[in-house]
Amino acid sequence: MKLGFIGLGIMGKPMSKNLLKAGYSLVVYDLNAAAVDEIVAAGAEAASSPKEVAEKTRIVITMLPNSPHVKTVVLGDGGLLEGAKAGDIIVDMSSIAPIAAQEVAAKAAEKGVEMLDAPVSGGEPKAIDGTLSIMVGGKQEIFDRVKDILAHVGKSVVRCGDIGAGNTTKLANQIIVALNIAAVSEALVLGAKAGVDPEVIFQAIRGGLAGSTVLDAKAPMIIAGNFKPGFKIDLHIKDLNNALETAKEVGVPLFLTTQVMEIMQALKVDGKGQNDHSGIVQFYEKLAQF
Ligand code: NAD
Repeated sequence: MKLGFIGLGIMGKPMSKNLLKAGYSLVVYDLNAAAVDEIVAAGAEAASSPKEVAEKTRIVITMLPNSPHVKTVVLGDGGLLEGAKAGDIIVDMSSIAPIAAQEVAAKAAEKGVEMLDAPVSGGEPKAIDGTLSIMVGGKQEIFDRVKDILAHVGKSVVRCGDIGAGNTTKLANQIIVALNIAAVSEALVLGAKAGVDPEVIFQAIRGGLAGSTVLDAKAPMIIAGNFKPGFKIDLHIKDLNNALETAKEVGVPLFLTTQVMEIMQALKVDGKGQNDHSGIVQFYEKLAQF
């Protein structure tokens, strides 16, 4: 079976490689020629536009940075909808604003094209292993048609509701991860400056109630001062912005999210937006003069 795949970045590259390994033929597109070359070398066919990807396939996966990129790729000149036929399916796995997913899906529906929003959690390591958590929004019958495909890139594939519900669930995930990293950073800098080795703190607490997937993944990076992304601060700012905008629409206060957002903005202004989000600790280290 032939699939389209657009967006061959940190996540899209390993995800597309897993689909190739699972036996799918892929038609791929990205603005970055080097990324396309790497996936073509792994067995994919290159297209010159999203439109060409849509003309050559019936199901297209997109893995792009944010809402404007998805709108360009789907709705723009030379975009997917120009080449798509009624009955085709777009599975957008980018993390975007829920309302943007709904807007793009509504435009696709005018052409008879179906869309799911299916953002992921787990980062690059789980993208490589094919064990991402995938949160899906859209019609049940369309979900049923693509869930076997998604099972090659994710270990958990859950339909959360109608279109937009995948991204709403992802925003909840991103709030929990951001606040968790800030908590780990705050705690380790306090411990270290008060004279206890942060590695000792990490090993002592990871089996208790403070233990978490975030602690296990990010404490070693924080302790080593290794902020190679991973998940960039710039992308996490994008997600928290989408969360704050959604919160305004539905009338929910996000006190803690607002504070962590300010920390991430300060790091971005300091030239650290391309660092992994474990780099939140650098904000605490600077203020603590540690
Ligand atoms: P990335 O910046 O590494 O990759 C994005 C890719 O999209 C790039 O290769 C870029 O060239 C391409 N692109 C951008 N605009 C394009 C266009 N108009 N046409 C074609 N290609 C275009 O980002 P990433 O880390 O792979 O993240 C992708 C999405 O997955 C984001 O929404 C992110 O929030 C989400 N996500 C990332 C992680 C992570 O750990 N990196 C984890 C979970 C979810």
